[in-house]
This record gives sequence, structure tokens and C-alpha cells, in this order.
Amino acid sequence: MATPPSPRSGTPRPGKVRRQPQRTCVACRDTSDKRALTRLVRGPDGHVHLDRTGRANGRGAYLCDRPQCWERALGRADVLGRALKATLSAEDRAAIREEAPSLEAADAHDDTNEHKDATADERAGEDA
Ligand SMILES: [Zn+2]
Repeated sequence: MATPPSPRSGTPRPGKVRRQPQRTCVACRDTSDKRALTRLVRGPDGHVHLDRTGRANGRGAYLCDRPQCWERALGRADVLGRALKATLSAEDRAAIREEAPSLEAADAHDDTNEHKDATADERAGEDA
């Protein structure tokens, strides 16, 4: 009497794979796991702020953790404001920058060079 081949247990059933919800970064349009992205929400008062819980009420937008995406979102292109159909105040932007992940010294990369030619060259110690 042969034993019937037992069905393999432990194989995930097709179509039943539990996936993380995917969200799109509003700056680079890359899709990532929702938890890898930071949610920003426009609250009922019209202010835009970081939503660490991911559950705040209001219109939300997601950003990945690339500094350039945050730059783009908060910069002149106003990607975030457009995504949220909101007008970000200077304070909103400042507060978001404060909390933004890995957004260190982002001001160093500024493409407005017009003011900078007044600064003297720093190579002063050559006659040491
Ligand atoms: Zn991005």
C-alpha cells in the first residue's frame, strides 16, 4: 500500500502573497514599500507636516529617503505643494526640513551662484 504523496506544505499559494502596500515618491516617481517612504500630509488647517504615523487625516504624499527628492519636493519646483494641492509656508518647509531623513547640509548644493563671487578665495595659506 503506497502512501499518497502529501502536498507540499509551506509553499505560498499563488495569488495570496501578502505584499506591502506600495507608494510612489512624488519627486522621483519610484515605487517603494510604503514603510520605506515618509508620508507628508496636509492637515485640516492647510499646513503640511510630516506624518510619522502614516495615519494622519488629510491629503498625503510620499517621499523616499533620497535627499535630492526632499530637495526637489521643498525646492522651487514645489513638487510637494503641487502633490498636496497646498501652499507650503516658509515655516512648513523649515519644519519639514528639520525632520527630513538624511537631509544634511542640503543648502550647500545651491544652484544660485550669483551671490557667491564676492567671497574671496580661501586659499590664503600658501606662503607658509
Ligand atoms: Zn524619491
